[in-house]
Amino acid sequence: MTLAYNIGMGTIKLSRKALHSNLDIIAQQVGAIDKIAVVLKDNAYGHGAKMIAHEVQQYGIKQAVVRLESEALEIAEFFENILILADFPTAPNPVFSYAINALESIEKFPNGTRVELKIDTGMHRNGIAPDDLAKAFEKIAAQGLECVGVMSHFKSADTLSSEWFWQREIFDALKEKATKLAGKYGWKIRFHISNSAGTFRSSQCTDNMVRMGIALYMDTTLLQPALKPVLSLTGNKIATRTLKAGQRVGYNGIYEAQCDEVVSTYDLGYANGLDRLASNRYVTPDGIALRGRISMDSAAFSTDTDELLIFDNANEYAKAVGTIGYEILACLDKNLKREWCD
Ligand SMILES: *Cc1c(COP(=O)(O)O)cnc(C)c1O
Repeated sequence: MTLAYNIGMGTIKLSRKALHSNLDIIAQQVGAIDKIAVVLKDNAYGHGAKMIAHEVQQYGIKQAVVRLESEALEIAEFFENILILADFPTAPNPVFSYAINALESIEKFPNGTRVELKIDTGMHRNGIAPDDLAKAFEKIAAQGLECVGVMSHFKSADTLSSEWFWQREIFDALKEKATKLAGKYGWKIRFHISNSAGTFRSSQCTDNMVRMGIALYMDTTLLQPALKPVLSLTGNKIATRTLKAGQRVGYNGIYEAQCDEVVSTYDLGYANGLDRLASNRYVTPDGIALRGRISMDSAAFSTDTDELLIFDNANEYAKAVGTIGYEILACLDKNLKREWCD
């Protein structure tokens, strides 16, 4: 039974079944569990990094990707290697490797650091130009670093266009060149370019690793539609009242009851990641309408249920806000309670 006084800050419920089913789909697509690196940056897309890390380790995953060294330290015990996308080492760690995003940053890494060189194959975000490969290897060697990977990123793997193919070709040509050059320095290099969408664009995985983020957590455009959402968000009731016809609820009273209507507030607001742009326009999967403006710490819905399912698919909430599920998930408050529901 759900207690009406279980008020705090809403609850995130995670489905093990969905996560395992998604991992099965990914493993089948990639063909080898050892090639899968799970992307756990930004608190595992809001799911809770430690909980997901523990679960994927049980499944047999050995590699992870995060943004910061502090994130890697939190989950270090679960993996054989963790790639850190945009940070510098504070202490040597044999499990971590660090992406190099610019030629100028090579000199900031201490001697002995394991690094992976990011190449800009067309996205023009991070990474060095393909023509600078030899120069970068020279600098990496001169700095006393060990290069363990060469990586890139697709700019539009999630749209059906030719962009994916020409980036793939540039990367394949680089793989050959880098393998030859690396021999000179005695480095064994792994190659990876694909995120979730990139991995599902091709029937076989020709790289050493794939970086799977969103596919772990839910379906998005062009991914395998059988991928299931792992996360759902529920709120606990704070207070209930009956609005009389003509009464308004919340800041600026943007919702006016047309007849007597029961509304309740729930313990989630925009400070917890409930994007305020959904004010007065979102309807839950159970057909319950959000009424009026979302406050910092609460939001009102047209119901008096003790526990309210707010969403069980972040893509649906994202539609009400005009963004993508990634953003809704990544912005979920780190302090929300998280628990497995199966
Ligand atoms: C976030 C990220 C990924 C994961 O992307 P998804 O689309 O979530 O699979 C992969 N690689 C890099 C470099 C990233 O920053």
